[in-house]
Amino acid sequence: MTRILVAEDNAVNRELLRELLELRGYTVLEACDGQEALETIEQTHPELLLLDIGMPVLDGFAVVRKIRENPSLAGLPVVAVTAYAMRGDRERILSSGFDGYLSKPVDPSSLTKELDRLLAKRDTQSVN
Ligand code: MN
Repeated sequence: MTRILVAEDNAVNRELLRELLELRGYTVLEACDGQEALETIEQTHPELLLLDIGMPVLDGFAVVRKIRENPSLAGLPVVAVTAYAMRGDRERILSSGFDGYLSKPVDPSSLTKELDRLLAKRDTQSVN
């Protein structure tokens, strides 16, 4: 069972993502802020992280920086989920250590595409 951690401080957004992911057969773990996200990763080793940018305690940029500093988490795919839709943000996000990017409200087919792309890559790597 593929486990996905949803780190998002807004309960409604978290629930929407949980429903979309469970419909696709994923097991969903939740964190409500950046610090909790890091702790949950250490404890549960999810296969992928959906990471909100705007969160209390540690924001998404700080979380992805800490993940990329940790060699044991090098293979963890991290997808930014953000309402920031301004020109240039996509580039800033993708140059900050994220593997992908979804804007809110999350489009279900874009979510599926990102998960297929990133989890297929992981499967290929584990075979080799
Ligand atoms: Mn937020």
